[in-house]
Amino acid sequence: MNTIETFSGIHCKQCDFKVAEYTSVCPSCGNEGIEKVDLKPNGIIHSFTVVHVGFGHMANRAPYVLAIVQTEENVKLTTVIEDVTNFEEIKIGDKVQFKTWDPNIGPIFQY
Ligand SMILES: [Zn+2]
Repeated sequence: MNTIETFSGIHCKQCDFKVAEYTSVCPSCGNEGIEKVDLKPNGIIHSFTVVHVGFGHMANRAPYVLAIVQTEENVKLTTVIEDVTNFEEIKIGDKVQFKTWDPNIGPIFQY
């Protein structure tokens, strides 16, 4: 079993919006009453695409899976899915878990 790091986002005390980003105001309602929260490392693939041509710092990574993952708190975030051996087997609804936080990419998930 791999060690699972937690990752964090923000929670708006006014409208209850949660997002896996660091912002100084709530992206939903603009309120400044936000707090940092740890997000659960488990999620499911909400939608995904296989990127065959990367650009910039992603160029060497292609092909890779870019997905929108929905965590247990119903937070949706854009992430790269690593350790995929067969792109044909990826399905919407697949369970994935947080792997690490890449400073250039953001959250990275894995199967
Ligand atoms: Zn808000």
